[in-house]
Amino acid sequence: LPPGLKKPPWLRQRAPSGERFEFLKDTLDNSEYKIATVCEEAMCPNVGECWNGETGTATIMLLGDTCTRGCRFCAVNTASTPAPPDDMEPENTAKAIAAWGVGYIVLTSVDRDDIPDGGAEHFARTVRTLKELKSSVLVEALTPDFQGDLDAVKHLASSGLDVFAHNIETVRRLQPRVRDPRANYEQSLTVLKVAKEAKEGMVTKTSIMLGLGETDDEIKQAMKDCRDAGVDIFTLGQYLQPTQKHLTVKEFVTPEKFEYWREFGEKEIGFRYVASGALVRSSYKAGEFFIETMLR
Ligand code: SF4
Ligand code: SF4
Repeated sequence: LPPGLKKPPWLRQRAPSGERFEFLKDTLDNSEYKIATVCEEAMCPNVGECWNGETGTATIMLLGDTCTRGCRFCAVNTASTPAPPDDMEPENTAKAIAAWGVGYIVLTSVDRDDIPDGGAEHFARTVRTLKELKSSVLVEALTPDFQGDLDAVKHLASSGLDVFAHNIETVRRLQPRVRDPRANYEQSLTVLKVAKEAKEGMVTKTSIMLGLGETDDEIKQAMKDCRDAGVDIFTLGQYLQPTQKHLTVKEFVTPEKFEYWREFGEKEIGFRYVASGALVRSSYKAGEFFIETMLR
């Protein structure tokens, strides 16, 4: 941490517990299908809350663990030619989720710039198969930008998913410092806009990290830009430096300030809902929020 910056108490992690959490953990551990959740693999501090919800939210990673990009905030492995995707993954993942018991599933992936459609059909096939097996499961795809390939975006947005999420990650000015050079603000906003328009009633969502040196005005502008692109749901969380090689934290944003952003986003900007808190990640309790706010 930079001199004078101490990790504040509100970032302390809570040990997961609860009846539904235990049930989901047991079912997953004893399942005939092997699925690795991001919740467990990344030791996400929210697993207790996400899995204990009445609906239950979990995140699954598709397309392997190696990314073709290298963002300066992200600890995922990087290579220009990762192993080819497992062709059976969409079917196997869908079967495993259908047999599991979580009501809201977030499918996400690394960026696969080495695959012609960026993996859009791989995502879409997972969604279609899952909906065929168990139509009651709500499905969110948290996607790459597909290098701005809008046909890929439309293809995935039309696959039957409920929420299309793509993260802008940070305010406009900090994009080149924070994200891989192949990503940018305008491209991400276009992805969100095209996804929104691809299907009647599509719900879209994006997320930014705070603590990278952004100003309040820049955050407000980012919120406005996203709302103008039709974004329904906005989330904010604290950036945490994963290793010494990654960007340093410039500021720990207080719980009060996170609450301010939640109210600002919902009341002044008009998002359907805003999840905002130090440990909030884009999929944080997504199922509970979705049911409370979007299906009301
Ligand atoms: Fe899983 Fe996302 Fe919830 Fe973390 S925030 S436990 S990764 S669903
Ligand atoms: Fe990490 Fe996504 Fe950037 Fe890849 S594109 S390095 S997975 S944030």
